[in-house]
Amino acid sequence: MTRRISIFGATGSIGGTTLDLIGRDPAAYDVVALTGGRNIDRLAQMARQFDAEIAVTAYEDHLPALRAALAGTGIACAAGAGAITEAAARPADWVMSAIVGHAGLAPGMAALKQGATLALANKESLVTAGPLLMQTARDHGAVILPVDSEHSAVFQALIGEDITTVERIIITASGGAFRDWPLEKMAQATLADASAHPNWAMGQRITIDSASMFNKALELIETHEFFGVSPDKIEALVHPESLVHAMVGFVDGGLMTHVGPPDMRHAVGFALHWPIRRPLPVARLDFAKLGQFTFRAPDPARYPALRLAREVMQAGGLTGAVFNGAKERALDAFIDGQIRFLDMAAIVEDTLGKMAADGLVHAAMTLDNVAQTDHMARIRAAEAIAARPS
Ligand code: NAD
Ligand code: MG
Repeated sequence: MTRRISIFGATGSIGGTTLDLIGRDPAAYDVVALTGGRNIDRLAQMARQFDAEIAVTAYEDHLPALRAALAGTGIACAAGAGAITEAAARPADWVMSAIVGHAGLAPGMAALKQGATLALANKESLVTAGPLLMQTARDHGAVILPVDSEHSAVFQALIGEDITTVERIIITASGGAFRDWPLEKMAQATLADASAHPNWAMGQRITIDSASMFNKALELIETHEFFGVSPDKIEALVHPESLVHAMVGFVDGGLMTHVGPPDMRHAVGFALHWPIRRPLPVARLDFAKLGQFTFRAPDPARYPALRLAREVMQAGGLTGAVFNGAKERALDAFIDGQIRFLDMAAIVEDTLGKMAADGLVHAAMTLDNVAQTDHMARIRAAEAIAARPS
C-alpha cells in the first residue's frame, strides 16, 4: 500500500534528505504537498519528479513563476503562509515538518489535527509551543517523531523503557565552527566563519546557531518539551566528533547511547519507517579505526545561550516563544551585518528581560498568543539591535 506523504520545507536540507530517501522507493509513496520559499526552480523540479498534488511557495510574489514552471503538469500551485497551512490539512499519513523557524509551527499543528504522523525537524515548534503541540497530538491521536539527530537518538534509546526510570539525558554538541576559538576571536567572527560547520552539512541558519550553541539551547528545551523530563536531568556535552548523538542514563546506572555518522538520513529514515527498521544508506563506523571518542563540558562563558535556555525552561509559559523570536531576529541582524556574533546572545537576554515584565508571557498557550509573543519578541529584539553601538 502506498503512503501519502507531505514535506514542508521540501527545498531545504532536511527536505532534500527526505526526498532522497523517498526517491529510492518511489512506488511506496504518493506525494501530496511539497513546500518551499524562493527557490522556485528546485520546488518545481521536485514537484514534477515526485508528481505532487500541490506545490506551495511561502511568498505570494513567487506564485506566477511557480505556475509557469508547473504549467501543463496538473500540479496545483499556491502561495503564502495560509496556503502552506491549508496544504498541511490535506489528508496525509506522514508529514515532514522541515521549515526553518517559527513559520513551521502552524503547518505542523494542522498536520496533527488531521491525525497525521508528524516527523518533526522543526525544533522551533517545540520551543515556542511545546505543550500545545504535544496536547494537540494527544487530542487527535497523532504521533510526533523527533527528527533532530539527538532527539531521534534519545527516542531510540527509550524504546521499551519507562520514562520515569530516566535519571539523565545527555545530548551532544559538536561545538560548531568556533569550538576551538577563544572568546576574543569569537567576538570578531564573520558570517562566513559562522556558516562553516565542521561535521554536519545543514541549512545556513542552523549552522550559525551551532556556532553560537543557540541550536543546542533550542535542543535542551526541545528535549524537555518532547520527553517531559525535568530540566535538571538534561545536559549538553561537547563531543567534537559528532558520532555519539545522545545518551540516556537510568536509575540503575545503565546508560544507553546512540552512535552513528553525522548523516541526517539515519534520523529522517528512522522516522520515515517507524515503527519498523529498514536498511538505510548510511556509513557504518569502524570503531577500531576510530580508536576513541572525546567529550568535554561546554564553556559557559563562550556559550551564554545554554544558560538562557535553562532560564527559559524555568520560566515556562510563552517564554520559549520570546527566546526563539528574539533569537531569529538577532540571527537576521547578524546575517545582515548589523550586529556582531556575540551580540546575538546579548540581544536575546535583553529581550527576555524586557518581556518577562510584560504579562504576555503568562497568557494562555494558544496558536494566536504564541504568534503574538513571537511578533512582540522580534520588535523588542529589533529595538535592542538598533540601540547597540555598531
Ligand atoms: P534550510 O534552510 O535548508 O531549509 C528550510 C526550508 O524552509 C526551505 O524549504 C525554505 O524554503 C523553507 N522556509 C524558510 N523560511 C520559510 C517561511 N517563512 N515559510 C515557509 N517556508 C520557509 O533548513 P534545514 O537545515 O533543512 O532545517 C529545517 C529545520 O530542521 C530547522 O528547524 C532545523 O533546526 C531543523 N534541523 C535541521 C537539521 C539539518 O541537518 N539540516 C538537523 C536537525 C534539525
Ligand atoms: Mg540536532
